Amino acid sequence: MEIYLDNGATTKVSQVAVDKILDCCSKNYGNPSSLHKMGLLAHKEIVNNKKIISNYLQVDESEIFFTSGATEANNLIIKGIADAYKRDGKHLITNKSEHPSVLQVYIELEKQGYDIDYVNIDDNGNLDINMLESLIREDTILVSIMEVNNETGVIHPINDIGKIIKKINPTTIFHVDGVQSFCKLPSNIKSGKVDAYSFSGHKIYSPKGVGGFYLKKGIKITAQLIGGHQQKDVRPGTENIIGIAAIGSNVDVLAKNISKNYDTVKKLKESLLEIKNEFSDIYINGSDNCSPYILNLSFVGLRGEVLVHALEQDNIYASTGSACNSKSKDGMLYSYGLDDERVLSAVRFSFSIHNSIEEIEFCKNSLRKNIPILRKYGRR
Ligand code: PLP
Repeated sequence: MEIYLDNGATTKVSQVAVDKILDCCSKNYGNPSSLHKMGLLAHKEIVNNKKIISNYLQVDESEIFFTSGATEANNLIIKGIADAYKRDGKHLITNKSEHPSVLQVYIELEKQGYDIDYVNIDDNGNLDINMLESLIREDTILVSIMEVNNETGVIHPINDIGKIIKKINPTTIFHVDGVQSFCKLPSNIKSGKVDAYSFSGHKIYSPKGVGGFYLKKGIKITAQLIGGHQQKDVRPGTENIIGIAAIGSNVDVLAKNISKNYDTVKKLKESLLEIKNEFSDIYINGSDNCSPYILNLSFVGLRGEVLVHALEQDNIYASTGSACNSKSKDGMLYSYGLDDERVLSAVRFSFSIHNSIEEIEFCKNSLRKNIPILRKYGRR
């Protein structure tokens, strides 16, 4: 039995997506820019999937763009907006718990002369909203805050944040990295006054290498690629129809089942969390308001990566996040102010709707076996 509890990293492609992919490979394989019938059919495929995605996000279909994934979407949004609005201001705001595809872009922009402020985060991963409020200025052109943290599952209050930003400066653009909330939580784009929102296919049972973003009509963006004129020149290049169709087929199913799926994974997370009561020195990394799809635990007294490999011996797959090197302090959990002991003993379990309670029981038994052994050696 293979127990895959690393669904925050990627997911198994669903059967509906596989069927759709095969159809696009063998029948509907035209180039959407071609003038003939095959081109038109391929173009229709994109339009249909845009409709499905925009329905879920409650936005207009003309506001959806496709990319090679969320790394590209985040890069394009941040660099493209920073460039398009640089005459209005060069002040941008984010925080240090963002995914590298956001954080590293801000660091790069800082080197180019943009003025970046980072909102503080407490040791549970909560943003200091009062600080965010105090940072917004007349020349603040962009704020990026993720909806769900990929390592801990911490949910940031997008609705409150959006309202605060717009109250202070209605022209500041609000970007949300929605990769870990897309099709897992109801869309907060409208209620949170979100202007740009990125998503990725492979976190929702679609293949790797395809994703996209929502960009509110009227917002300017400088393209980061030049070439063809696809997607209104915002993101030229022949569209990845196979990937787009796969995403659409999954969104179609997932969007109708958000609360049912939420309850399913919540039960899995709660069951796994019971292990915390059986041992001392297990800590939850994250706040009370976390996604049920992610559970991040520190098993103080052992190394997270060693536990991950021990679980692997039982065919259980989890992850350590990026905190492998205490010297470089580049793990996301350091942004919460946690110490080496907590960061280096952290393991992320991330669930999918296809995991079962039996798998979680099996995982708990493996933890019961491994924790005492690894701590015995780890604490020496
Ligand atoms: N943002 C978040 C929060 C993520 O979890 C990930 C992937 O792990 C990305 C962005 C990057 O997505 P992609 O793999 O599609 O480039």
